[in-house]
Amino acid sequence: MEGWRMKDYGSIFKWLDGHTATYAAVADKIWGYAEVALQELKSAALQMAHLKTEGFTVTEKVAGIKTAFSAERGKGKPVIGFIGEYDALPGLSQKVAPRKDPVVQGAPGHGCGHNLLGTGGLAAAVAVSRWLEENGMEGTVRYYGCPAEEQLWAKAFMARAGSFDDLDAALNFHPATYNMPGKGTAVGIYDVRFKFTGVTAHAGGSPHRGRSALDAVELMNVGVNYLREHVPEKVRMHYAVTDGGRVPNIVPETAAVWYYLRAPDMKILDNVYARVRKVAEGAALMTETRVDIRVTAGCSSVLNNHYLADLHYEVMKDIGSIVYTDEELAFAREINTAYPDGASEGAFAGLPVPQAERDRVEAVGKRPLVDENFPAMDELEVRTGSTDVGDVSWITPLSMLRTTCFPAGVASHSWGATAASGMSIGHKGMMHAAKIMAGVAALLFDEPEHLKKARDEFLKKTADSPYKCPVPPEIRIEDVTPTF
Ligand SMILES: [Zn+2]
Ligand SMILES: [Zn+2]
Repeated sequence: MEGWRMKDYGSIFKWLDGHTATYAAVADKIWGYAEVALQELKSAALQMAHLKTEGFTVTEKVAGIKTAFSAERGKGKPVIGFIGEYDALPGLSQKVAPRKDPVVQGAPGHGCGHNLLGTGGLAAAVAVSRWLEENGMEGTVRYYGCPAEEQLWAKAFMARAGSFDDLDAALNFHPATYNMPGKGTAVGIYDVRFKFTGVTAHAGGSPHRGRSALDAVELMNVGVNYLREHVPEKVRMHYAVTDGGRVPNIVPETAAVWYYLRAPDMKILDNVYARVRKVAEGAALMTETRVDIRVTAGCSSVLNNHYLADLHYEVMKDIGSIVYTDEELAFAREINTAYPDGASEGAFAGLPVPQAERDRVEAVGKRPLVDENFPAMDELEVRTGSTDVGDVSWITPLSMLRTTCFPAGVASHSWGATAASGMSIGHKGMMHAAKIMAGVAALLFDEPEHLKKARDEFLKKTADSPYKCPVPPEIRIEDVTPTF
C-alpha cells in the first residue's frame, strides 16, 4: 500500500499478548452478566472501572442514556475513537459446550459476541493510550461504551447529541467467522409507527355506521406487499400489527402497525418511506379513517472507509494468523456439525469473493476455524441487517473489522455463537482484533498522512449526503426502549 510503512509497534502487540488473561476475564464477566439492551448496568460499570484504573477520564450517561459512556486519555489531536458494545440477546443463554445446552432456559446470552466486541475495543484503547504516553506523543484515545446495539438506535441518539463530532477516525470490530476489514455497506433503517383512527360501531348490528381502523391496517399491508415488487434491490419492508382491535363484535376504532423500512442508502430509504406513506394515506382514504405517521427512530447505512480497510489489512499481515490448539479445533469441528449446512456452507458464505482470493477462500473456509487474514472482499456487499455503527460512519472515517470469534459453520444470533464467545476461541478473536485496531490507531497517531487520506475519501463520499440523524429531535430513548 502506497505511503504505508510499519514502524516498530511491537511493544503494543506484546503488551496486549501479555494482558490476554486480563481482557479475557473482563469479556467472560460480561458474558456471564448477559444484560440485554439498555440494562447493561454491570457490564458498563465493569468497563468504566477498568478504564479509570488505567487513567482514563470517564463521562457517564452520554446522551442521557444510563448505560452509555465515553472515556478518554491523552491530550490534543488527533482524537481516535474505539466503538464498543456490550448488550446480550434475549433467549440465547448457552453453556460453553459444542451442543445446545442453555445455562438457564430462555435467559439472555451473548449470541452476537458483544462481550468480545466491547472488550476488544477496551483492550486496544488502553494499549494505545499507554503507548502514546510512553512515547510522549500528542493525541487523545477515546473509548465509547455504546448500549443496545441489538435494538439499533443508541448510537444515533449519541450522534444526535454530538458525541462523535470531534473524532478524526473511529475503529470498531465485530465477531465473525473470518478475519477481514470492511469495505461493504449495510442497510439503513427507519422505525415507523402508523396509527389509524376510525369510528366504532356494533359489528353485527350496525356495521354500516362504523369505519374500521383495522381494515385500514390490512389494506395498508396489502398495498405495501404489492409495492415490494417495485422498489430497488435490497430494500426490506417488514411489519408487526401492534393494535388489531379487541373483540370481533366492535368495529375497531383504532388499529396500529409498526414497520421497519430498510435500504442500502439513505436517499433510497427516504424515497421508500415517502412511498409507504402514500400507501398508508391511500388506506386511510379507502376506509374513511385517519392515519398518524411517526418515525420514532432509525440508523444510517454503513459507509466503510476503504483506505482504512486497506490499512487494517497491512497491520493484519504484520500480526499474522491466529493459532489454535487441538482442543479448540476439535470443539469447532463438533459445533460445526450441529448446524444444518453450516459447515458445508463455510465461513465465507454469501460473500462476493473476488477472483484473486477464490482459491484461498476455498481452502481456508473449509477449516473448522478461519485462522488466516483476508483483505476486504466485501466491496460489493450490501448486508440486509442494520447496525447503528452506520451513524458513526457518516460522521467520521470508520472501517468495520471482523475477526474469527466463531467456528466456520456457526450462525450469529444462535447458541453456538454464545458458546464460542465465552471461551478461548472468542478470546483469541477478540485479542486479534485488539492488536489490529491498536496497530491501526498507532499508525494514525504516528503518520498523519494516513488520517489525511482516510479523511479525503470520507469528504468525497459524503459531499452530497452529509450526515442527517435519523432520530427525530423530539424522540427520547425511553420512547423506543423495548420491553423483553
Ligand atoms: Zn447482533
Ligand atoms: Zn452484533
